Amino acid sequence: EAKNQGKGRWSSYTPAMDQRGAEQARIAGDLRTALDTGQLHLVYQPIVDMNDGSLYGVEALIRWNHPDRGPIPPVDFIPAAERTGLIVPLGAWILAEACGQAVRWRRELGPAAPETVSVNVSARQLREAGFAAEVAAILRRTGLPARHLTVEVTETAVFDGGAALLELHALKALGVTVALDDFGTGHSSLGLLRTCPVDLLKVDKSFVDTVTHGGEHAVIAAALIDISNGLHLRAVAEGVETAEQAAELRRLGYRYAQGYHYARPLLPEALARRQVPQPAAA
Ligand code: C2E
Ligand code: MG
Ligand code: MG
Ligand code: MG
Repeated sequence: EAKNQGKGRWSSYTPAMDQRGAEQARIAGDLRTALDTGQLHLVYQPIVDMNDGSLYGVEALIRWNHPDRGPIPPVDFIPAAERTGLIVPLGAWILAEACGQAVRWRRELGPAAPETVSVNVSARQLREAGFAAEVAAILRRTGLPARHLTVEVTETAVFDGGAALLELHALKALGVTVALDDFGTGHSSLGLLRTCPVDLLKVDKSFVDTVTHGGEHAVIAAALIDISNGLHLRAVAEGVETAEQAAELRRLGYRYAQGYHYARPLLPEALARRQVPQPAAA
């Protein structure tokens, strides 16, 4: 289209974009292979109840170990997967993997298993007709009761319109928990919280980063916990890195937190080791 508009008019095309496009296409191709050859795995980051330090749940996060290029972070390939549509089969794989792991933990750890496993779902997946039906099928196949699954979506994905909202309502009807991820950074309005069937707000790390800086730096974190309490939603503070941040968040009324201060994303075995009480030395 840009080329029909004539030289120099509104065209935002640059050769650098062409290169980025080619890079994205290459990543998407490699990712297809990665999915088929087992180069992908999930790690799980604890979400803790700050009242007593107990485990509330875990968030599943994808990892890609590229045979030539080494580990590639999700921010470098999830966008390409979304653009090419590969996120749809990839996302289904992620959901099945996380639900299967949740079932294994429940079997192995009993009451010490994470109560909920949280899975990131992209806008493209959520818009796909039949997404909730696919989640239902995955829950049936893996044997995970819906109440142990949380789906994380962004405000922008939900704001996208009717199709996404329909799928969210269907997920709620199944008994799946719905979380709004990176809350406060997306394209949204607070009115969304009344129309969208949401249970939990994940307050973005950017508001946590400054919470100890005093004055107006804590205003948004403070407002968001008041809103979520007022609407009877749970709130998780994301990216908590220091004891000072945790203390300040608790003072503001936050109960749940996730971040390096508590735990990094872990392999399933490592999470199990942390949870199973160690037998007393004989
Ligand atoms: P997110 O869903 O907001 O996930 C939280 C990100 O913050 C993770 O990065 C996590 O490792 C990181 N994080 C957690 N605590 C701390 C902290 O204390 N400090 C800092 N600096 N970072 C912290 P990660 O794993 O690199 O994922 C980045 C983003 O990629 C995710 O953001 C999510 O949007 C996307 N993503 C990751 N896994 C998946 C997936 O399985 N499916 C989809 N659709 N997206 C995913
Ligand atoms: Mg998330
Ligand atoms: Mg997040
Ligand atoms: Mg975030």
